[in-house]
Formats: sequence, structure tokens, C-alpha cells
Amino acid sequence: MLALSLDMGGTHIGCAVVRDQKILACSSLATESAKGLGSILPLIAQTLQRLLDESGENLDACSGLAVGFPGIIDARTNCILSTLKKYEDAKELDLAVWSKEVLGLSLRMENDARMALLGEQFAGSAQGLNDVVMMTLGTGIGGAVMIHGRLLRGAHAQAACLGGHLPVHYRGRLCKCGNIGCAEAEASGWALPGIIREHPAFATSLLALEPELNFRQLFDMANRGDRVALDVRQHCLEVWAANTVALIHAYDPEVVIMGGGVLGGADVILPFVQNHVNKHAWAAWGTPVIRAAELGENAALLGAVPLLAEERSCDEKATATVRA
Ligand SMILES: [Zn+2]
Repeated sequence: MLALSLDMGGTHIGCAVVRDQKILACSSLATESAKGLGSILPLIAQTLQRLLDESGENLDACSGLAVGFPGIIDARTNCILSTLKKYEDAKELDLAVWSKEVLGLSLRMENDARMALLGEQFAGSAQGLNDVVMMTLGTGIGGAVMIHGRLLRGAHAQAACLGGHLPVHYRGRLCKCGNIGCAEAEASGWALPGIIREHPAFATSLLALEPELNFRQLFDMANRGDRVALDVRQHCLEVWAANTVALIHAYDPEVVIMGGGVLGGADVILPFVQNHVNKHAWAAWGTPVIRAAELGENAALLGAVPLLAEERSCDEKATATVRA
């Protein structure tokens, strides 16, 4: 299947032409200075057309446009239910109509973490597996779940999307979602600077000299033996491990895929989480495996073909039911 794919990140939109498990051409559009999504739709359309030209393909041969969006999406209706403060104007736009009018293609939209899980299952580290949990560690903590080879969506399209908002500390920090002690409030990119600065020995740490505080610096300083960095890194590892056990208990996966920018520290994170899971997860059948995502920023883009194929199989089933 040939398809167009968009991955709407916080600061960039990934645009790609994909054929099955391969990206034929891709490009990234900076969106930090854009005034909403509506203002850059023409640029997105131009970019997709350019990428098709570069690939030697054309719109007529495409099966559709798949969009990964950072928010809660109802893929059945292509409705954006919550935008998480990114592309706020998108709720007012009818992207399916835009896609039909400008590109002549049907559009399907899904939450970006779910798209990434579809991509990893189709072309990455979850190939051949049907029961998979994905946890992405970055500015926030994203989640998605596949059971029996189907994405878990729930009554209001938010099942498993909130995998980073399971409370790991009931007297913990207030989260942006309104809950207390979510994994995301305790160990994510947005929460990290506050957590580091709260450490009683912060003033004595090398981290106090850094203009910006992020996970790369935290892991670097911890590797250099900085006491504060070691303490905070340990706290974050324990939070991610506790969250992973909660996800395993909730969803019974064979494998938990960990992805996102923080996985630059995978050599420390994966063995720690696996060890914690081995000791503490209740899995009478064996041991859930903790594995790094393979596709990086391409995961959501490569979710395009399975997302579009999923709709096709639903349509075929509906048609078969009507015929019967
Ligand atoms: Zn939360």
C-alpha cells in the first residue's frame, strides 16, 4: 500500500510518503512560529506533493492520508477530543474535508502514541506480536495498548492513552491533568527541572550550572557521579518501573515497548525496568519482556499503512455483514 503520513509533534510536523514498511521520502516542517495548524495546511500539502514527486509517485496511487496527532482522537470519526494545548485550532478544522478537497484522499487520524505502536508492530520491535504495551518517555509520558492485534480504544477513545497518568505516588506532585502523583508528574521532561531544583543539595550539583535542565544532562551528570543527578535519575527509574508494572497488571502484554527521546539512556533504563518487572510484576505465565522501540521518530509515520488498512478491513467487514 502507498500512503501519505503526517506526524504532528510539538515543534515539528513529520511528513512522509510510505510504501508498506518503508519510508520513500520524508521531511520535517518547523511549526514553532506557526499561527495554528490552519495557517500551515497549504505548506503541508505542498510538502506532501514534493515528497511524492521525489519518490516518483503520484496522488492517484495513494490509498489515503494518515495523521498522528498529539491529543485524544476518536479515530472512528476523525474527531479531535482534546488537543493538550498543541494545535488548538485543529478542533475547528475539518481535516478530512481538507484532505479530500486538496489532495483527493480520504484521511484517517489517530493519537500519535497509538500510531507509533502501530508502526512498531508493523515494522519495528513489536513485529509478530499481538499483545503489546507502548510507553513513550519524553516531554510527557505517552501510552498505547494493542490487545489481540487491535488497538485498544475504549468508549471515549482514551483507553491506554493516559498510560503516563497512572498514579505512582498518591501524595506526589500535582499533574497537568489534574491528578496527583502521575508518573508524568513524577518523571517526565516537563516535570524534571522542578524535581531537580527541589533536591536539598541542588546548589552543590553540577546541574545548578546548567542553563536548561533535561534528561540528557541528568544522565550525563549521573554518569559523572554527581550525587543530585544520581538521586533524581534513580527516582525517575523507579517511577518508570512502577508505571510499567501497573501497565502490565492492567493490560497483560507479552512485551512492553519503551520509546521516546529519553531512551537515549536505554542502556540504564531497560535493564533497571526489566529487573524491577522480574521481581515485582504478577505474571504467572512467565516474564513480560521490556524492549526498546526501534523506529524512533519514524514509528508514527510508519503507522500509516496499518491505520489505513484497519479502516479498509472494517469497511470490508461491514459490507460483508450487510450482504449477509
Ligand atoms: Zn496526570
